[in-house]
Amino acid sequence: MGIKEFVVISGKGGAGKTSVTACLTPYFVNTLTADCDVDAPDLDILLKPVVGKTDKISAARKAVVLSDKCTGCGRCRNVCRFGAVRIEQGLARVDPIKCEGCKVCTLVCPADALSIEDWPTGDLYESLTPYGPMVHARLIPGEEVSGRLVSLVRQRAKAIAAEEGCEAILIDGPPGVACNVISSLTGTDLALIVTEPTVAGFHDMRRVWETAAKLRVKTALVLNKTGLSDEFMQPIRDFAAERDIPILGEIPLSPEMRRAVNDRRIPSVAYPDFPGPRFWEGVVEKMMELV
Ligand code: SF4
Ligand code: SF4
Repeated sequence: MGIKEFVVISGKGGAGKTSVTACLTPYFVNTLTADCDVDAPDLDILLKPVVGKTDKISAARKAVVLSDKCTGCGRCRNVCRFGAVRIEQGLARVDPIKCEGCKVCTLVCPADALSIEDWPTGDLYESLTPYGPMVHARLIPGEEVSGRLVSLVRQRAKAIAAEEGCEAILIDGPPGVACNVISSLTGTDLALIVTEPTVAGFHDMRRVWETAAKLRVKTALVLNKTGLSDEFMQPIRDFAAERDIPILGEIPLSPEMRRAVNDRRIPSVAYPDFPGPRFWEGVVEKMMELV
């Protein structure tokens, strides 16, 4: 049996995805945790890993001008459809934020003065939490390659999980339904969707479920903040029942969750009676049964 991959997603930011991931972590056995929310990673705030290794990573490529060769002819500027090149003091300058690394400029340069080079986009960390190994990353602000960075986190997580003999990988996915979510979902064994009974929670849960369904990833639900509003509880349950999506648990709205997160602690550890070990063990057991 291969390593099972579980991803926790929500569609909507603020639904409690990272808190639920952190709560589940102590109840998974022989499992590696991976934070794929590389634009705003915060699982490490709750799990407090000790960082063992940091690697600079280059998930993007950019054009670089070799100024000793450039004649300032402007051909590269004229063909760059991203507006990344300007001519200054007789030399081409590339704006790395705008450059998409498409290489078109290199094809027209008569002086062979452009090269496409790896560009630093973030840091990748191999760490250890009290509950097992963890892989996480941080994207340099302004870089838009989070999908590729997510893939790198997952590749490294799989390699370490195999080396360490882990049976499972628990992934904290990004919010939304963009390419970084697709990179987090693709090929996983189960997506646990954390939702809340609000109009945005219900709407975004449906969108992220549709994304998972298109990728043929099995899904299950956890309803967070129940009691926040009765209006959306039944529509969420009906949506799940109509599509055979199991609801693995309901977490009542309570101050404990928020207080633990504010104190940078894992809610299920800081408040072991809320909702209680049996609840978290039950969710993990059901997740395991589904894969
Ligand atoms: S690689 Fe593409 S985007 Fe970057 S400067 Fe050249 S033409 Fe523009
Ligand atoms: S096309 Fe080449 S030589 Fe001309 S400005 Fe651009 S980099 Fe310089």
